[in-house]
Amino acid sequence: MSVLTSGAALFIQPHYDDVPLSCGGTAALLARGGHSPCMITVFASELVDEMVGEFAAWKHERWKVTDADQVQAVRRTEDAEAARTLGCPVRWLGLPDAIYRGDRYTSDPELFGSLKSEELELAAHLAEEIRNLPEWRDGMRVFVPLGVGSHVDHQLVFEAGRRLASLGAHVYAYEDCPYAIHTPAGVEARLAKLGSAVGEPVIVPIGQALETRIEAIACYRSQVPVIFRFTADFRGTVAEFALRTGGGIEPAERFWPVRPLDGEG
Ligand SMILES: [Zn+2]
Repeated sequence: MSVLTSGAALFIQPHYDDVPLSCGGTAALLARGGHSPCMITVFASELVDEMVGEFAAWKHERWKVTDADQVQAVRRTEDAEAARTLGCPVRWLGLPDAIYRGDRYTSDPELFGSLKSEELELAAHLAEEIRNLPEWRDGMRVFVPLGVGSHVDHQLVFEAGRRLASLGAHVYAYEDCPYAIHTPAGVEARLAKLGSAVGEPVIVPIGQALETRIEAIACYRSQVPVIFRFTADFRGTVAEFALRTGGGIEPAERFWPVRPLDGEG
């Protein structure tokens, strides 16, 4: 059994779906072991009309969103169902998604580009908010996205993770799926960019929990066709990726220890 599958843990996901997609097996194993892990969805704010600028409106049109309230209700129902499938509770924070943060990101290249420097303040705020959650335990394990695929929201949560590591939490970064699945070179590129901010990866065998992870992913009915548009068989694709991660022996998930900000070489 891996050291990562026991003890108190928080699984932080930028958006509704990132944790089940990327590391649902580990979360399920912790839940089964009675360690009461909790899932936290960061960018789950209410949506008011004033937040929808030109870029967001264009996104909505592409997503065929006409009623933002209804979309949020659907996404939350799916998220709750996925969390239940993994065996953990989920908490939704009120931060707005990148496309609703004023005019910080106004195009797809920007949304998948560099994190704007003014966002580091938001990362610090998020770290503080996480530390003040009732689920917080000193010295607990916190899982954040590695930031593969470069979505600014994922990079921001990773930055919050570094701040939590500086405050004494044991922070581990999961490889963002589906990015890591369809573009493995993106993992290497992100690791090269992060340099000494993360340590050597830890492999967690997930065995039977792979099925639970896949069932949890399937709960995001409105998202699965979009997320997995590169494959006709998302279950097979996820299973194959997990098996590859486990060296072809057993399905597994991979995590990188996140070093504290001060510990940078
Ligand atoms: Zn995401």
